[in-house]
This record gives sequence, C-alpha cells and structure tokens, in this order.
Amino acid sequence: MSDQTQRPNILFIMSDDHASHAISAYGSQINQTPNIDRIAEGGMRFNNCFCTNSICTPSRATILTGTHNHVNNVTTLSSRLDGRLTTFPKLLQAERYQTAIVGKWHLGHGGHADPTGFDYWNVLPGQGLYHDPEMIDMGEKRVFPGYTTDIITDLSLDWLKARDTDRPFMLMSHHKAPHRPWDPDEKLMHLYEDIDIPEPETFNDDYSNRASAAREAKMRIDRDMTPRDLKFPVPEGLTAEEEKKWKYQRYIKDYLRCVASIDNNIGRLLDYLDQEGLAENTIVVYTSDQGFFLGDHGWYDKRFMYEESLRMPYVMRYPREIEAGTINDDMILNLDFAPTFLDCAGVDTPNEMQGTSFRPLMRGGLPQGWRTSMYYRYWMHLAHHNVYAHYGVRTHRYKLIYYYADGLDTPGSADDPRPPEWEMFDLEKDPCEMNSVYDDPAYAQIQAELTVELDRLQAEAGDQPYIVE
Ligand code: CA
Repeated sequence: MSDQTQRPNILFIMSDDHASHAISAYGSQINQTPNIDRIAEGGMRFNNCFCTNSICTPSRATILTGTHNHVNNVTTLSSRLDGRLTTFPKLLQAERYQTAIVGKWHLGHGGHADPTGFDYWNVLPGQGLYHDPEMIDMGEKRVFPGYTTDIITDLSLDWLKARDTDRPFMLMSHHKAPHRPWDPDEKLMHLYEDIDIPEPETFNDDYSNRASAAREAKMRIDRDMTPRDLKFPVPEGLTAEEEKKWKYQRYIKDYLRCVASIDNNIGRLLDYLDQEGLAENTIVVYTSDQGFFLGDHGWYDKRFMYEESLRMPYVMRYPREIEAGTINDDMILNLDFAPTFLDCAGVDTPNEMQGTSFRPLMRGGLPQGWRTSMYYRYWMHLAHHNVYAHYGVRTHRYKLIYYYADGLDTPGSADDPRPPEWEMFDLEKDPCEMNSVYDDPAYAQIQAELTVELDRLQAEAGDQPYIVE
C-alpha cells in the first residue's frame, strides 16, 4: 500500500467573507451554490461552526495555528503572523506531506511574515485585486492576467497536476472573493439581472433594545456604502427607502456574482478529484474566514459577535470516514481545524494548540464532554467600521456580549475608550438578536450562569478579563 492510500489528502478551500446564508446547502433564500452543495451532499454539513474573532487576518491565524488570537498575537488587521509559530501545514510538511497555499494570505509579507510550512506558495499581497492580480510567487512578484477566482483555481490545479503522486498533499486554495468591493467576473454580470433579491427580515433594524454598539457601527447599507462599493451612480428622485433598496440590490447582486465564480471553480476542483480517482481519499473542506451581514440589521461587513458574522460555513467531504449527506449540530470552531487535520493525517497535535479534533463528529460520534459554549473576542476598537471591542460567550441557546470598548493600545485599534456595556440574547426566542435581555429579571439566573461561563472560558483560553479602572 503506497503512502498516498494510507493517509488522506486535504483540499482546504476557503473564501473571504462568504456567509452561510448565501449557500444553498444551508438553505439560502437568495442564491444557489450547486458545487458547494456537492461537498455537503457527499459529506457533512456543520451547522454550528463559529469563529473566535470575526475578521480576516485573525481568523486565518487561528486556522493555521489552532490558537486564540491573544496567543498567536494576531489580534487585528494590523498584525502579522510570525512564521516561526507552529502551524498545521508545517507539521504535515514534516511528515512528508506536500503542502501548498494559493490565493489570499493576508498575514503580512517579508521577513518572518511570508508563508512558512508550504512547499509552494503563491499568494495575493494584502487584500489583492479582483482583476489581473499581482501575486507573490515564492517571493517573486508577478502579474496574472484574468479574474482572480479563476486564477487561484488554475494555479491550484497546476500544482495538483505537477505533484508527486507517491505522497499525500495538503492544498489551501484561498479565494479573495467575495470580499469587498465585490467586483464580479464580467461573464457573470447577467446573473440576477431581471430579479429582485429578497431583503432579510432585519433589513430595517432601528438598533433599539440593545447596547449602543449596533447603533454606532458604520456599516449601514443606506448610509455607509461608497461609490466604489456601488459602482453605479444612485438614480435621482428616489425616496430614502427606495434608495436603500436600490443600494441593497446593487450590493447583494455583485456579492452573489462573486460567490457564483467561487462555486463554479469549486466544481473544477471536484471534477479533477473525480477524474483522478482521488475523491475517496481526499478530505475536501469548504469554509470562509468568517460570516458576513447580507443586509441583515441593515448592514454589510462582519466583526460583531452577532450570528451572521460569527457563523462560518463549514462543509466537509471524506468518503472514507464521513457518511454522505449528514448534518452535524455540535459546536465546532476555527480553532479546531488544525487539530482535526492533524488527527486525520495521524500526526500528534502539539499541546500548545487550543482547539480539539472533531474527527469523532465526522464519524457520527459525540465525545463525552464536547464543548457546549464558545469564547469570542474582537479587538479592533472603533477601527474601520466603528465597532466596539468586545468579548463574549455563546452557548447553544444564549449569548452574552461584553462591549468593553477600549483599544488597549492594540495596533489597529483606536485609543478612544467608551463606557462598557452588556448585551444578552435568547437565541431560541430571538434568533435575529433584536432584543437584549441583559438585566431582565426573568433571565437573572441565566445571566449569572453565563457570566460564570464567560469567566471560565476566558481563563481556560488564557485570556485576560477587562477590568474597569
Ligand atoms: Ca474575511
């Protein structure tokens, strides 16, 4: 038996800002994603996958290192990943895996910030461009003509075709799309041309009944979108309500066109695995670095611990261990990806990794003591979209958020503290998080329990509580 048949290949496809409510496998009301659905239908759809910090660079650092951001020191968009840290690609590479990353990196460049642990890396500088992107090909800058989502897939396929077939591979194929400014491929501009995309239930949120953070955030479709985002001039003579609706259609259609390119390209990768007879022994994952507001609460963007941005899509196919068409509702985190891949590859997870392998969940089991709560922290106080720094806990039913609202001298955060505030949600009665029940006497007992649980999780993660001076 050759090495290849003993250890699984890993194809990890990740996009940027693709919310699960724009994936038909997750019941999207606004689009179809037949190729992402192929992964779900051939494997498992995880319904409760959450990120520990809903922003690009930090989530990527957590995925690679299996540690929280206060540990890997990538707390904000201004952080760089120290390439000397232990990552799962590095550990797989040491075990004779062929490793590669193509596409979005966004963890810094030069010195110790270049990708490490990869035999081949060809990545976009920073956010990268949608068209004719410059890429850093093993340290050399080159321009690749074409649409970036196609190019990332072309380069991924090129690397797969040229690999050593006697050894297993681990490929991270990371899309820039559908990140802002949502520039579609011209050939998909006709999609959704003649229809109106439905608006979400909370489209006209007035931000009452919550802490002031939601009201203060600057990510409103009606007020904060730029001409660059909208790409066309706002028609004259519209009422405020009509203008908001027009902007939403402009935004969501471009976003969904970017998603359609990703989906088409995932089909190309899946076809390749089928043609080469690799599907059976290859773990295929599709996920995104976090979720996104798709008009929910009247917003675009992410950052908040609210459901739409906290939740990550995560579908996983591995015919050798996952029964086709299965669904899992247990709580998994981006923190767990590294230990899970190492476990599947038969490589020990180092103690410093804070996540837990969910391979037992893939096989339909549930380990005793599996987590029923998770810890979240967003550090970028008042940066970019004016969101307050916060941390919190989510259980299967409840969520407690503490807006400590202080930059704490973290690079990428503002030095402008605001009075701390709390929110609490009963996700069963209020799944859209429109009405905080913090300090509601009816929830006093639950609030006390959640406060204890938040302290416990924070201490377990090795993070420090915010103390008001
Ligand atoms: Ca992102």
